[in-house]
Amino acid sequence: MVTTHNLGFPRIGANRELKYTLEAYWQNKITTEELEKQRYELCQENWQRQVMLDYVPFYDHVLDTSLMLGNLPQRIISLGGDALTSYFRTARGHSAGDTLDAGIAAGEMTKWFNTNYHYIVPEFSANTCFTLNPSHLIAQIKQAKELGIEQAKVVLLGPITYLRIGKCRDASSPLNHLPQLLTCYAELLCLLAEFGITWVQIDEPALVTDLDDSWQHAYLNAYEVLRTDKLNIMLTTYFGTLGDNLALTCRLPVQGLHVDISQHQLELPWLLKHLPPGCILSLGVVDGRNIWKSDLHKILDILEPAHQLLGDRLWIAPSCSLLHVPIDLTREAGMDVEVRSWLAFAQQKVEEIHILAQALNHGRASVYDLLRANQQALAQRHASTRVHNPEISAAIAELHPDMGSRSSPYAQRAVVQKERLQLPLFPTTTIGSFPQTDAIRRLRQAWRCGDVDDLTYQQAIYDEISLCIREQLAVGLDVLVHGEAERNDMVEYFGEHLQGYIFSKFGWVQSYGSRCVKPPIIYGDIQRLQPITLPWITYAQSLTNRAVKGMLTGPVTMLNWSFVRDDQPRSTTAMQLALAIRQEVLDLEAAGIHIIQIDEAALREGLPLRKSQWPEYLTWAIEAFRLTANGVSDATQIHTHMCYSEFNDIMSSIMAMDADVITIETSRSNADLLDALDNLNYPNELGPGVYDIHSPITPSHEQITTLIQQTCQYIPATRIWINPDCGLKTRRWEEVRPALKHMVEAAVQLRAMH
Ligand code: GLN
Ligand code: ZN
Repeated sequence: MVTTHNLGFPRIGANRELKYTLEAYWQNKITTEELEKQRYELCQENWQRQVMLDYVPFYDHVLDTSLMLGNLPQRIISLGGDALTSYFRTARGHSAGDTLDAGIAAGEMTKWFNTNYHYIVPEFSANTCFTLNPSHLIAQIKQAKELGIEQAKVVLLGPITYLRIGKCRDASSPLNHLPQLLTCYAELLCLLAEFGITWVQIDEPALVTDLDDSWQHAYLNAYEVLRTDKLNIMLTTYFGTLGDNLALTCRLPVQGLHVDISQHQLELPWLLKHLPPGCILSLGVVDGRNIWKSDLHKILDILEPAHQLLGDRLWIAPSCSLLHVPIDLTREAGMDVEVRSWLAFAQQKVEEIHILAQALNHGRASVYDLLRANQQALAQRHASTRVHNPEISAAIAELHPDMGSRSSPYAQRAVVQKERLQLPLFPTTTIGSFPQTDAIRRLRQAWRCGDVDDLTYQQAIYDEISLCIREQLAVGLDVLVHGEAERNDMVEYFGEHLQGYIFSKFGWVQSYGSRCVKPPIIYGDIQRLQPITLPWITYAQSLTNRAVKGMLTGPVTMLNWSFVRDDQPRSTTAMQLALAIRQEVLDLEAAGIHIIQIDEAALREGLPLRKSQWPEYLTWAIEAFRLTANGVSDATQIHTHMCYSEFNDIMSSIMAMDADVITIETSRSNADLLDALDNLNYPNELGPGVYDIHSPITPSHEQITTLIQQTCQYIPATRIWINPDCGLKTRRWEEVRPALKHMVEAAVQLRAMH
């Protein structure tokens, strides 16, 4: 008999209960006991769906691991307060609204591998000293027992991945801490065995990344130390294949190994041959990161021979934790029925695993109807005219490299643009959005519910745009924007205006802590039916003689922040998006907009986990951007914006985009940016972000001047812009006005100096 299991379930709750509970707790509306109680209720609900002890973390499972290991940052511990207070201070810093000194930083937040989930980065230093405190975990085990769940599998973050995704705050290396960390893990395993736990899942996704000798060696060492016969370890790897870590992984002395074969099965024959005798093989066959129904027959074709060979030693599961998909499709009553029949959310993926197990244990005939329904849905999706649009395939087939190239090189274009735009030295601008006030959100909500008609809504947005233009003129900015009041989200807004996109109503996915996102779904060929932003931007331009910059979201960001179709390469979908947004670019240009910004906030996020796969991704991603942007005449100035400062390693790709101006987030690490500039002779114009919009602190004009003066040492003054480091939509007007004023003052001062 094959065994089914799951690697993790969404913990936010079907109605985002965790979000509301956390927020109530932060506002002191509920006590710690109530927080615990509600969290347990969520756990219970999840456990009853699946036999596993998937822990519902307070905020983040990595931070929970740090808490359990006694590894919260010393700077926060020394502020006093109980463990949970320190925990939330680490997660949220001074924005928690408590008495925490603004000078004491929260833990850094980073993306969990190549997903959109953010974890709190563990910190290490020479003084790091782990002490095991498993009280929360033990409490959950006891609670599960009370519920009659005896055979629960406990899920832990593996020690090597924990070290690997953390950061040393001094010159020490994370691996220095391994011996002590292993002592804690070994102690924990003993304790779990005492509590009657028979299976522990240890997550080691770092095994699908590039590991040098020292990390490979650490794996061997660690699992030798943790080797035990008191309980069984299921070592789980996911988010890709093992590649050159395959042989290493098979040598680790564990009782079970989980691999992700949802995308490729290339390593399966080798695994079947070299799996240590007695070791259980868990195959991650259902894609845990996307929302499409699985092809159950195809999976059975792969599983049946493996089952013959392994018998009871075969387990099946989703590829990774289902934390990355929404909970339950049955809630989407309002969704287009046809498209909905092609989808599977977490609950449905668990059901797929059960159908597969049934078919393996009792033959396909035992689930004939279910398999047939699955096959019909897939066949229908495959043939649907909603998915395939011959006009779009023809346009993609006709793409020509010239379409992605400007007519002249930057140096020549710059002359024409300077002539037309007549901007001063150090032009000032913003990244696009201005504060999204409660009034704007309420208005949009009312319009969506039908309480406000189209015309009234449109007029209200026009009023908002004109207010935004007046504010910018009052501050004295050089290049203005319309303010993006019509946008709820930079991807969703464009998605809603493109054919091929669909939206769920309850498809929330945890992004970090209490924050959830509802990624749009690309199900078919992308087509722009009519202009999207043109009325707003041309209206803004009609109000002023200063240049108004058109604001668009780029194709790669659209792709990386959506659930993407799995029936064609991502690159093809990217090109379709590029063609659609290119039309918007050309329409804006034709309507007299001289500056157009195409945001690629998420370009870096799409980088594959393996460096060897970077060039392929970067090639098509940059091609998509070029296709979007570069159809304009020399006189039209293209800007792009990126939300990250680590661009040293992809600088040549950024240069290949050939945007006239790039604005970039730097406020947290100006040094990195300058470093990159120094190494690579950046040839075009650059706006280093001088105002950290994630912080409530207003930079002084002296600080801004200093930052720009530093930049001048690396890039000529004639090519430097002054701008915040990202959009202003999350800030309040009272914060934005003085910050922008200081930017303008700094520009005046700098012009006098140069
Ligand atoms: N234009 C967008 C804004 O200003 C850019 C947002 C982003 O980079 N994340 O909000
Ligand atoms: Zn940004």
